[in-house]
Amino acid sequence: MGDEDNSLISIPQAILDRLTRVDMPKVRSVAKSEEMIEVAGVSIPVYECETLVLGSGAAGMRAAVELKRRGVDVLVASTGLFAGTSACSGSDKQTLYTTSTDYKGDNFVSYAEGLCSGGAMNFSTAYIEAVGSVDALGGLLYMGLPLPHDENGAILRYQTDHDEAGRATSCGPRTSKLMVKVLFEEAITLGMRILPSCSVIRILKHSIDGTEQVYGAIALHRDEERNAYGMIFIECTQIVIATGGPGELYRDSVYPRHCHGGLGLALEAGLELCNLTESQFGIGTPRTKFPWNLSGTYVQVMPRVYSVDQDGGEHNFLAAYYRNTREMVSNTFRKGYQWPFHSTRMLDYQSSLFDLAVFLEQQANRKVYLDFLNNPEPVNEGESFSLDDLDPDVRAYLENTEALFDRPIDRLRQMNPLAIELYRMHGTNLEQEPLEFTMNNQHMNGGILIDDWGRTSLRGCYAVGEAAGSHGVTRPGGAALNSGQVFGKRVAVAIKRSRKPHRKQSINTTSLSNVLAEHLEKAERFAGNTDGISAKEVQTEIQARMSNHAGILCNLDDVSLARKEATELRKKIEQRGIRAVSESTVGASFRWQQMALVSEAVLRALEYYISHGGGSRGARAICSEQGTQCPEAHRKDLSRYRFIAERETDRDEKLVVSFIEDTIKVSAIPVERAPNPERQFFEKGWGPYLLKEG
Ligand SMILES: Cc1cc2nc3c(=O)[nH]c(=O)nc-3n(C[C@H](O)[C@H](O)[C@H](O)COP(=O)(O)OP(=O)(O)OC[C@H]3O[C@@H](n4cnc5c(N)ncnc54)[C@H](O)[C@@H]3O)c2cc1C
Repeated sequence: MGDEDNSLISIPQAILDRLTRVDMPKVRSVAKSEEMIEVAGVSIPVYECETLVLGSGAAGMRAAVELKRRGVDVLVASTGLFAGTSACSGSDKQTLYTTSTDYKGDNFVSYAEGLCSGGAMNFSTAYIEAVGSVDALGGLLYMGLPLPHDENGAILRYQTDHDEAGRATSCGPRTSKLMVKVLFEEAITLGMRILPSCSVIRILKHSIDGTEQVYGAIALHRDEERNAYGMIFIECTQIVIATGGPGELYRDSVYPRHCHGGLGLALEAGLELCNLTESQFGIGTPRTKFPWNLSGTYVQVMPRVYSVDQDGGEHNFLAAYYRNTREMVSNTFRKGYQWPFHSTRMLDYQSSLFDLAVFLEQQANRKVYLDFLNNPEPVNEGESFSLDDLDPDVRAYLENTEALFDRPIDRLRQMNPLAIELYRMHGTNLEQEPLEFTMNNQHMNGGILIDDWGRTSLRGCYAVGEAAGSHGVTRPGGAALNSGQVFGKRVAVAIKRSRKPHRKQSINTTSLSNVLAEHLEKAERFAGNTDGISAKEVQTEIQARMSNHAGILCNLDDVSLARKEATELRKKIEQRGIRAVSESTVGASFRWQQMALVSEAVLRALEYYISHGGGSRGARAICSEQGTQCPEAHRKDLSRYRFIAERETDRDEKLVVSFIEDTIKVSAIPVERAPNPERQFFEKGWGPYLLKEG
C-alpha cells in the first residue's frame, strides 16, 4: 500500500443497486385511433397532434416535456421507449457536461470557446449550450436527477475529455438512463401522449406559398393490427427528430443494438446534414458482449493491459509502444479523461498511442484485456510498476481521491464501486476475472444541420440530441447529453413562439393517398420478395465496410473505393429490395435501406474532405506517404501510419451533405468561431422578449 492512512470506503449494496439497476416507469400507450384513411383497399389509422417528437431518449423526452409544459399538443412516437443510447449506454461515470457551480464558478465564454475549439462549430451554438446548461441541469435536478453535491450545494465535478475546467458531473455509470427515467416520470405526470413501438419511416411535406413544410409522417406501429404492416399516418404541423445516432453503421461499435437513428429518414426527406466526417472512437467492451465505455476510473486505476494470441500466448503489447513503465501507465491513466482517439495524441508517446496499439492488436487477431487484479508489467527489465513512480498529474489524482492502494481492483473500489457493480450485473466479476475490450465507434458528432433554435432546412422540422449535427470536430465528454437537453428546451421555445392557433391543416388528400400507396407498395415488395437481399446481408456489408475503411485510420484510395461500393449497394437495394421474413417485419427493410444511404453519405463526406486536402482531426488520422506527422513507438515501426496534419482553415467551415436527384452532394459553409456574445441590457431586451413570448 502506498499510503497507510487510506481505508476502503464501503457503500451499502442498496445504494449501488439504486444507481445501477434503474427501474423505469410503466408507460401507457395512447388509445387506438378510430379515424381511418382508406388507400388501395387498406385501412390506415390516422393520429393527430400539433408536434410529433420522434424518439424517447433523453433529448426527445426533454423536448416533449418542455413542449407539453408550454401547452403544445405533443405526441411522442418511439421505436423503443427505453431502447436508445440514453437508456442503454454508459461508462464508469457517465458524464453530463454543464457549467460548474464548483468553487468560484464558471465562465460562459471560456466554456463556449472550449466547445468549439476543434472547429466546424459556430461560437453562437457553443455559447447557447454553455448558458443553457444552467437551465438544463436545473430542470433535471428539479425532476429528481440524483447528482451528487457538496454541503454547500455545489454539484461535484471532475475533468473529462477536451475539458480544461473540470465541468463534468455524473450520477454514476447510468446517468443518461436516470435522465430518461426522471423525464418519463415528468412526462407521465404531465399526461404526455406516447406511441411506443412506433417507427417513423417517412416525413411528409407539402408546399405552402412556395415553401416546403412538414404536414405529417408515416410510421409502422408494432401494436397496430388493422393492416398487415401496422402502417399509420400521423398528421402534425411540426416534427422534432430525436432519433439518436446511427449506431448500426459500424461492426466495431459500443452503441447498444438497434440504434439506427434518423439520418436516412432525414436525407430521404431532403434535409441537409452536416459534419458527417466527425465521430468518436475509443475503448470499450464490444457490443457482442455488453457495450460499455472504458473511460474514467476503469483506466485511471491502471490495470494490467495485455493481449492473447490465437495460440493462447499472453503479450504485454504496450511495452512495444511506450519507452518505460512510468510512461506506459501514466498514459493508460490519461485514457480516463482523454478517452476518444485523437490523431495528434498518437504523437510523442501520448495517450492515443494506446488506442493505436489496441487497434493493431485487434487487427492481428489478438484479444485485448484489462486485468484489475494485477498491476501493469514492466516495459524494461527491473522497472516494476510503482505508485511512487508516476507522472505528477497521475500521482496527484490518486492522492486526491485517496486511492493509493496496492491493486487496481482496490483502487477501483475506492474511486468508483459502481463501476465494479455494473459489470457484475452484466456477467463479469472484475474482482475475479479480466475484461475483454476493443476499439469502437461510439458517437456521431455530425447529423442534421440545425440553426441555433434547432430548426432544420425543412420548415416545421426540428432536430435535437445525437440526431442533430450540433457538435464540432471535438466535444468534451458529457456535451452530447447537455446539447440534447439545451436544444430540447430551445425547440420548445421556438415552436411555442411560432405557434398559430391550431386549426385543421389543408392537406391535399390525393397526394397523401399517393404517398401512402407508394409506401404500401414498397412494404408489399419487401414482404413478398424472395429475390431481395436479406437485411442481414446488407447489415454485414455496411458494417464491415465502415469499420474496415472509415475507422480511426483512413486514406483516400480506401475511402473512395468504399464510397463507390456503398453507392452500388444503394442502387442494388433500389432494384432488388430488402427481403422481409414477414409482413410485420418490413420495418427492418425500411431501416436498412436508410442505413445504406447514411453509410454512403458518411463515406461521400469523407471522400470530399480528404480529396479537398483535409487533414487528420478529431477521430481520424488521414494516412498518406506525403503526411508530415508520424507516430513513433519504442520497439515498433509505425511509419505505415504517417498522416497528414490538420489544415487550420478547415476549422472555419462545416461540410453540408444532401441527397438530391439520386446523388449525395457535399458543399462547405463557413462557421464563425470568434467569441461574440453581446451584452443585453435588461430594459432594452425586456420588451422584445415579451413580444416574442406573446
Ligand atoms: C457507450 C456510450 C457512452 C456514452 N457516454 C456519454 C457520456 O458520458 N456523456 C455524454 O454526453 N454522452 C455520452 N454518450 C452519447 C450519448 O449517450 C448519446 O449521444 C445520447 O444519449 C443520445 O440521446 P438521444 O436522445 O439523442 O438519442 P437516444 O437516446 O439514442 O434515443 C433515440 C430514440 O429514438 C428512437 N428512434 C430511432 N429511430 C426512430 C424512428 N425512425 N422513429 C421513432 N423513433 C425512433 C429510439 O428507439 C430511441 O428511443 C455515450 C454513448 C455511448 C454509446
